[in-house]
Amino acid sequence: MKHSIYQPVIGIEVHCQLLTQSKAFCSVSIDQAHNSVANTHVGPTSAGLPGTLPSLNKEAVELAIRAGLALDCHIQRKSVFARKHYFYPDLPKGYQISQFSEPICTEGFVEYSVGSNQKKVRIERIHIEEDAGKLSHGFGHAMVDLNRAGVPLIEIVSHADMSSVDEAVLYVRCLYERLLYSKVTDGNLEAGNFRADINVSIKKKEDSKWGTRTELKNINSFKFIEAALDFEIHRQIAIIDAGGKITQETRGWDEASKTTYSLRSKENAPDYRYFPDPDLPPLLLDDKDIQRIQNESPELPNSIRLRFLKLGISVADVERFLADPDYVRYIDACFKLGGLPLELSNWFFSELLRECHQNGLSPTRCPVTPTKLTELVNLINQGKISGKIAKTLFKKMWVSPEGPTDIALKEGLLVESNPAQINQWISEVLAKNPAIVEEYRSGKTKVMDFLLGQVMKISKGKADPTSTRDLMQKALVQTLDT
Ligand code: MN
Repeated sequence: MKHSIYQPVIGIEVHCQLLTQSKAFCSVSIDQAHNSVANTHVGPTSAGLPGTLPSLNKEAVELAIRAGLALDCHIQRKSVFARKHYFYPDLPKGYQISQFSEPICTEGFVEYSVGSNQKKVRIERIHIEEDAGKLSHGFGHAMVDLNRAGVPLIEIVSHADMSSVDEAVLYVRCLYERLLYSKVTDGNLEAGNFRADINVSIKKKEDSKWGTRTELKNINSFKFIEAALDFEIHRQIAIIDAGGKITQETRGWDEASKTTYSLRSKENAPDYRYFPDPDLPPLLLDDKDIQRIQNESPELPNSIRLRFLKLGISVADVERFLADPDYVRYIDACFKLGGLPLELSNWFFSELLRECHQNGLSPTRCPVTPTKLTELVNLINQGKISGKIAKTLFKKMWVSPEGPTDIALKEGLLVESNPAQINQWISEVLAKNPAIVEEYRSGKTKVMDFLLGQVMKISKGKADPTSTRDLMQKALVQTLDT
């Protein structure tokens, strides 16, 4: 394929909404659910009224630092807010407060696996900035909603270190996973709380000079990133193969036609007339602040990965857990209670998830709590209930406020290991099956399995298998003797 002589060069900027209570530069609350009426989360500052002054949200700064630490960045002890000027109706001040020459974080990196290879992508910088509002069109009007205006974002800028679609998609996934587990963002992709701008150009593999790039703007799903990049790379190759030239421009992704389309040409880099915002003093941090934030940061996915692998969980299952922080929270609580990891994982992925899906509940909100599931697995492990009865018990636990031990006691589900009771069942079985006993007597000792099965049946699965086998053997030998 033509692909082989070309190689894409990809750099990515991710905008990520910080999970704060209020906006970046005022105390107006944030519409986290994205269902509020337009312009109900706006105040004088986010509306850009003259005479208002921005005041920096401490929570946003802490989350930006946490993001920087999660991405192995250097946290700058001094950073500066700047005004980035451009005219757009959803930007009432006429400028966006951002950071320019002195961002809060620099020089980070992430490492991840692409197939069997390790890939390292360098992060150039992370800066704090405010989001703009939203324009919509209808009823013969252009309408502006400022609920989003002034919402705190971080922009994470990578170096152009990626050279395949897979490397790019996995990079964004890796960022997403880390920021989600760090609780820096709610990661709501549909709402655009985590969205990528992807710069891509192609060059012949042997060339050192990069081609003209295009920028794919605001792509908010991993699937779309993959499809848009794939399309764009092939589009550029086709143009170059036909002797054409790539236009430097910003392009959007149209999911309906599965194509990228030109949004605006960027013949010259726009002049934003950046200058330090005179209303905001430089942001100064000390080592103590950063150390505290580091100490308070939630555990990162790679650390969870290693911990789970050490418990003997398979690579595939570890990834299944990590796909949802809620799964990790649930199973980790079980592990910490000291249950058997492999058994717990099996129960989690089979019975528990099945019931959860059927009832539309997440594991951490379902009636079978980590304590109860661990107790159930321990009952099986201690030989107090059989695996088969455990499944019945699990169904009862789903609709009962009681734990498995209490239910099992009440309903007589615990394994019976009292020899008198087991012998009674055995006598019953032997009396009912004289022909089989005869077979055993003539040397066909494996018919004992059938007899054991019969004991299980009449005991409704409660007979303790080990004692039953011992007692059965004795009983059959006695039969021989008489
Ligand atoms: Mn930006």
